[in-house]
Amino acid sequence: MILIVGGAGYIGSHLNKKINEKGYETIVFDNLSYGHRNFVKWGTFEQGDLGNIDEIRNVFKKYDIEAVMHFAAFTYVGESVEDPQKYYLNNVKNTLNLLQVMLEEDVKHFVFSSTCATYGDPVEIPITENHPQNPINPYGRGKLIIEQVLKDYSHAYGLKYASLRYFNAAGADPDCKIGEMHDPETHLIPLILDAADGKREDIKIFGTDYDTPDGTCIRDYIHVTDLADAHILALEYLQNGGKSDVFNLGNGNGFSVKEVIEEARKITGKEIKATEAPRRSGDPPTLIGSSKKAMEILKWKPEYHDLSKIIETAWNWHKEVNK
Ligand code: UDP
Repeated sequence: MILIVGGAGYIGSHLNKKINEKGYETIVFDNLSYGHRNFVKWGTFEQGDLGNIDEIRNVFKKYDIEAVMHFAAFTYVGESVEDPQKYYLNNVKNTLNLLQVMLEEDVKHFVFSSTCATYGDPVEIPITENHPQNPINPYGRGKLIIEQVLKDYSHAYGLKYASLRYFNAAGADPDCKIGEMHDPETHLIPLILDAADGKREDIKIFGTDYDTPDGTCIRDYIHVTDLADAHILALEYLQNGGKSDVFNLGNGNGFSVKEVIEEARKITGKEIKATEAPRRSGDPPTLIGSSKKAMEILKWKPEYHDLSKIIETAWNWHKEVNK
């Protein structure tokens, strides 16, 4: 069985759906601090907290776990600057608890949710896995610490891992069973869709004076079900004897904030008021990833290259939950 830690969250729940559809059996372990119980529609749910090592041990005793996928983390970059301890305790210390129990139980395959935030300000675009890692906030630093821990544990204890560095996860399950739902919501696409249906008055554009063609930030939006596919491929790669490694997961295409808003206007048929606002601190002008390595080694083939398709799935989900 596959243990999906944080499987009630956005990316974890999409992986849980897809991996069940492929015939794997899953246990979702989640404390529901940010996850949603009703997103766990597949596999078995065990509520528990990584801060309590005995709760982790109990799950490993109860089920025959062959591999772990770890999605559970706090993900608000701004909050990580305000309250770094919250991030280091959950994203670092609690992950060490999970790894400790894996070693105790001799479970050797681990797929880790890392992030392009481990790179910090890009020195070249597109960003490859060899790009220097100089994270600029505690969120990114915590993820980098775990990447380094994994390297050490793999040398010392034979742990086999894949660290997956996501760019901007976006979109929703095309069957509309699950989707993006954060509280508070800070992500661009869900906020734009809230503006489209009048749940908020406008979308604020954080900075229009960046050194980009239209002055707004460029990001690499990757569909959440493409991310889910990459996790399954990473797991199978490890199970087939692949060596521990890190992989970028992005679309390879960059879209500016203005382009995303414009595309959302087309998809929704709504006006969507956009208001220029100051830059948000810590935002690099451009983040675009190269995922050539995941495509070559994992044989990953992302399906959603068009921003329009990504926004369309997000809009369908948005309408489903707001009807
Ligand atoms: N952004 C924006 N207005 C918002 C939220 C986000 O202009 O209300 C911009 C943000 O500055 C960034 C891009 O949209 O350039 C994507 O932001 P998001 O928070 O979705 O993801 P991040 O890139 O921070 O992981």
